[in-house]
Amino acid sequence: MKSVIRDISLADKGRQKIEWVRKNMPLLRGLEEEFKQTKPFRGVRVVVSVHLEAKTAYLAKLFAIGGGEVSVTGSNPLSTQDDVAAGLVADGLDVYAWYNSTKEEYEEHLNLALGYKPNIIIDDGGDLVNLLHTTRKELLPHIMGGCEETTTGVLRLKAMEKEGALRFPMIAVNNAQCKYLFDNRYGTGQSVWDGINRTTNLIVAGKNVVVAGYGWCGKGIAMRAKGFGANVIVTEIDSIKAAEAIMDGFKVMKMSEAAKIGDLFITVTGCSDVITAEHFKNMKDGAICCNAGHFDVEVSVKQLEAIAVEKQEQRHNIMGYKLENGKWINILAEGRLVNLAAGDGHPAEIMDMSFALQALSAQYMLRNFNKLGNKVIDVPAEIDAAVAEMKLKSWGVKIDKLSKEQKKYLNSWTV
Ligand code: NAD
Ligand code: SAH
Repeated sequence: MKSVIRDISLADKGRQKIEWVRKNMPLLRGLEEEFKQTKPFRGVRVVVSVHLEAKTAYLAKLFAIGGGEVSVTGSNPLSTQDDVAAGLVADGLDVYAWYNSTKEEYEEHLNLALGYKPNIIIDDGGDLVNLLHTTRKELLPHIMGGCEETTTGVLRLKAMEKEGALRFPMIAVNNAQCKYLFDNRYGTGQSVWDGINRTTNLIVAGKNVVVAGYGWCGKGIAMRAKGFGANVIVTEIDSIKAAEAIMDGFKVMKMSEAAKIGDLFITVTGCSDVITAEHFKNMKDGAICCNAGHFDVEVSVKQLEAIAVEKQEQRHNIMGYKLENGKWINILAEGRLVNLAAGDGHPAEIMDMSFALQALSAQYMLRNFNKLGNKVIDVPAEIDAAVAEMKLKSWGVKIDKLSKEQKKYLNSWTV
């Protein structure tokens, strides 16, 4: 069976979206030219499980242009765009995903994509790796290795590596400098606000915005909130990050205190139960909560469901819950990644860098998998540097080079 998507008649709209991002992804366009000639993935089966949005579609096409046999699935039940999926199918790729899939459908789609007996996997949060180590172990002999896109996925891989459970090498794309410095910080910083603003259509200026987690994503979200004129409050569990937030000009307090004064809450920790029943009960009437971290457990919608006396959709992607105290609490996009479940995710120019890292890392894996061991490895420094160089070139920016004398000076200790 080839491709399981919602509606092939949406293909033209999807193709238009893919073409728009292609025009704005110069690094991938450069790799497209190169891969057309070199065909590095000839005869290689690649499975891509990343938010099935236009930029991911272009990455998948790039693997196919490079000679790969590609199957594509999503990485979140709410982030697949059905028109993009149709556009990819119309262009000859095999796709297994649709928007708003049930838990069972989502898993079935991942399994169908894995049915290709992949050699290389592109994972985003660890769903493919998880299946390959549990219910689809029979596919392990075909796997050379893979690449992981996000922070939580890398943490899980490291936990597997530590326990000796990992059965093939994985490259931690998230841990490349050209990933987290740009994608996690500036990408999340912009796309989370895009998701929130288009969903709520409310003003940010003057609001008390609570950002839970001051990691790479949290820093970006808080920085942009400041730009919008919000009063930004940060919650943290790490004293160094908390001190950094204070020096960046933000208030820091416990969630139990922030809950009482926040207007808008954004969790981005990768942790669970960051906002729970005790917090909801103390929130202001009309408070809005959303999540930008992995999975839908940071804002405990489960606990909110349990204490609510009434539930009513307020607007597309906004569910209101009435509590016993008469106050309403609003949840955006079911507590799933608000930038992808209620938006188009990071902008094209950002995913251009992340996906150039993915494409080059996959090529590296293909060439080196038998030397890497069952380990989580960093993106090679040359690839990280090459992506930064390509990005500067796309902007037409030139930088200085060290002279021989300067190199000598920097490496000496006597002068
Ligand atoms: P990070 O490790 O840099 O930051 C996470 C921060 O959260 C850390 O500073 C940590 O101390 C803090 N934290 C952990 N538990 C907490 C708690 N209970 N309360 C308050 N703070 C807590 O990670 P990151 O790169 O910023 O990623 C954060 C999450 O977002 C991950 O799950 C990652 O997979 C996801 N992510 C999402 C997007 C997106 O597009 N929405 C993009 C990149 C990463
Ligand atoms: N399965 C997990 C996925 C984590 S999402 C979940 O649904 O919770 C976090 C990743 O999404 C980030 O690392 C980022 O690189 C990626 N992302 C952000 N915008 C994107 C876009 N427009 N297209 C594809 N991936 C995107």
